[in-house]
Amino acid sequence: MTTSAAPVVEFRGAGLTYPGPPPVPALRPSDVTIRQGEYVTVVGPSGSGKSTFLNIAGLLDAPTTGRYFLDGVDTGRLDDADRTALRGRRIGFVFQSFHLLPHRSATENVMLAMVYNTGPRTDRRARAREALDRVGLAPRADALPTRLSGGERQRVAIARALVTRPSLLLCDEPTGNLDTATAESVLGLLDDLHRDGMTLVVITHDPGVAARGQRTVTIRDGVLAERAAA
Ligand code: ADP
Ligand code: MG
Repeated sequence: MTTSAAPVVEFRGAGLTYPGPPPVPALRPSDVTIRQGEYVTVVGPSGSGKSTFLNIAGLLDAPTTGRYFLDGVDTGRLDDADRTALRGRRIGFVFQSFHLLPHRSATENVMLAMVYNTGPRTDRRARAREALDRVGLAPRADALPTRLSGGERQRVAIARALVTRPSLLLCDEPTGNLDTATAESVLGLLDDLHRDGMTLVVITHDPGVAARGQRTVTIRDGVLAERAAA
């Protein structure tokens, strides 16, 4: 039962206004709880505040009002170093445009995520290979991103997000740059991760993608509302 699972993401009146001038109320004070193992999708028009929501959830931005709890931790009480460390341990990000380094192999791109791992380089390489295997890319582990298809690049980005063993995977339009068939394979991978217990938050413009989640949050003009998935 998801209702008894521990909260991972908890907004309590959390909102963000960019100072400007003029000030931009990107996310109005919002209340939302996402529990361990849930798959939540976020929809809304361009500029409505979806990325702002995800950036707060992922500790890339701090709310300017209200409180944000991650895994029960009141993140407003953390200093910058602790926020960064918590983000590194708990959160994986996947972005629309992959954000891979073009002159590093798939394996090296994944290894670069392990900045908090001080262990031997051989261990990091082995973990990167495991993560690439998890996303079905073991045969392409030594390839440069420029030699990979869009879907393969996004799989590398997902491997990079997973290699630190996060408790929360945040995806900002993960299929936005992919054709329908490739998007489907990436969505299938997200389904697998969800089945294995990952907590997922996926921003999308696509109603078909939104319907993959267990529930959908809408954001319109910075106002967040819950609604059942279609
Ligand atoms: P979405 O992801 O839904 O397209 P965003 O969360 O990126 O929307 O943006 C929400 C609003 O905040 C928009 O009006 C956008 O222009 C504004 N915004 C985003 N980032 C900044 C910033 N760094 N400074 C000022 N305004 C911003
Ligand atoms: Mg956005």
